[in-house]
Amino acid sequence: MKRGSSGHQPRVAVVGAGAFGGWTALHLRRAGAEVTLLDTWGPGNSRASSGDETRVIRSIYGPDVIYVGLVRRAFDLWREFERERELQLYRRTGALWMFDADDAYARASLPAIAAAGLRVDALDPAEAASRFPQIDLDGIERVYYEHEAGYLLARRACEAVVDAFVEAGGEYRQLAATPGRIESGAMAPLVLADGSRLEADRYVYCCGPWLGTLFADSLPGVVRATRQEIYYFGTPPDDRRFEEGALPVWVDMSAGSFYYGIPGSERRGFKVGDDEPGAEFDPTRGERIPSANGIEAARRYLARRFPALARAPLVEARVCQYELSPDRNYILDRHPQAANAWLAGGGSGHGFKLGPAIGALAADCVLERTAPPREFTLARVASAAG
Ligand SMILES: Cc1cc2nc3c(=O)[nH]c(=O)nc-3n(C[C@H](O)[C@H](O)[C@H](O)COP(=O)(O)OP(=O)(O)OC[C@H]3O[C@@H](n4cnc5c(N)ncnc54)[C@H](O)[C@@H]3O)c2cc1C
Repeated sequence: MKRGSSGHQPRVAVVGAGAFGGWTALHLRRAGAEVTLLDTWGPGNSRASSGDETRVIRSIYGPDVIYVGLVRRAFDLWREFERERELQLYRRTGALWMFDADDAYARASLPAIAAAGLRVDALDPAEAASRFPQIDLDGIERVYYEHEAGYLLARRACEAVVDAFVEAGGEYRQLAATPGRIESGAMAPLVLADGSRLEADRYVYCCGPWLGTLFADSLPGVVRATRQEIYYFGTPPDDRRFEEGALPVWVDMSAGSFYYGIPGSERRGFKVGDDEPGAEFDPTRGERIPSANGIEAARRYLARRFPALARAPLVEARVCQYELSPDRNYILDRHPQAANAWLAGGGSGHGFKLGPAIGALAADCVLERTAPPREFTLARVASAAG
């Protein structure tokens, strides 16, 4: 290993200060590396996938049980970080999962969730209807209540992680970085937007939806950015039934859908999203104006499942993007042509919650203390994309 200027620790440059990059930089710094973290527009900026107000944290993950263990670790690390920083970023609301007769997605996770010490109860739909009369459970045959689930204050967490990183002695710079050329199995220093070069022993690219275009030549198809809309509907005056405290986070997987939402919180309204990936999107130049069709579809959904909100006004909306890997598993691996370069991303609509855990894993990989899990390797992406 090439040594840094201290003579002991590697110099690492991390590009991107979203959920993946911020946490990776913090863990690397805490492990003793000399770390420079770069971001074009700053942590949790409006274009970043981590830039919305809130993100759900949950452990029901279908058959992809690798995530259950990571969620367990993430819960612990979020709580530890909150204690250290004297901040509240995680809100434990619980999550209500709604299915028609097909609840295989929940059932597949239950043994791993129990083994991880997390709690999910199956609820009788009639019991769920009496506990949450503000939801119309028509067509719902299976209901689960996940106790530790909730939501995280996303963009604020990104800022807090970078603050912690800087306090730990890391260097943060708001600059765009271009990967150096790959020659003889290694990547040359980064070229920064101010014209300077940044040389490090390892480069870690945590560029979210930009990963696809940054590595379009050497890793085609690794990440695709898709347009996603999120709506915040205004709850009625003097009606607290749709706010935190009265309603948990909810996920509706009935009839092949994956609608989800967060009860009114942070004075931002009742949040509704559809997990179905949208059209290709340019995260740099794309206009972020919500579509009339998307708003209409969300209203139709509300009218069916949350009838009292059928006429609720839209009070805010976000146009964001997923950074989709071909199989929607994360990417954490060394660049196949450059031994000194790593990629971490591909959160695919579910990456925020795991920031602390994936950052810890990424730091261990970059420091060669462990190898990435097979599910996150680039080799599996190449076979899925092909
Ligand atoms: C609508 C929506 C809902 C979601 N819901 C959830 C949820 O409920 N729960 C959950 O866990 N996850 C959710 N996700 C997914 C989650 O938000 C993302 O997977 C996660 O935030 C991705 O983090 P990231 O660090 O990889 O990318 P980003 O947050 O996009 O960060 C990448 C950063 O890299 C910087 N950058 C890019 N290129 C360069 C460059 N060349 N030089 C310097 N800096 C650069 C950017 O400015 C950006 O800040 C959702 C995503 C969306 C869009």
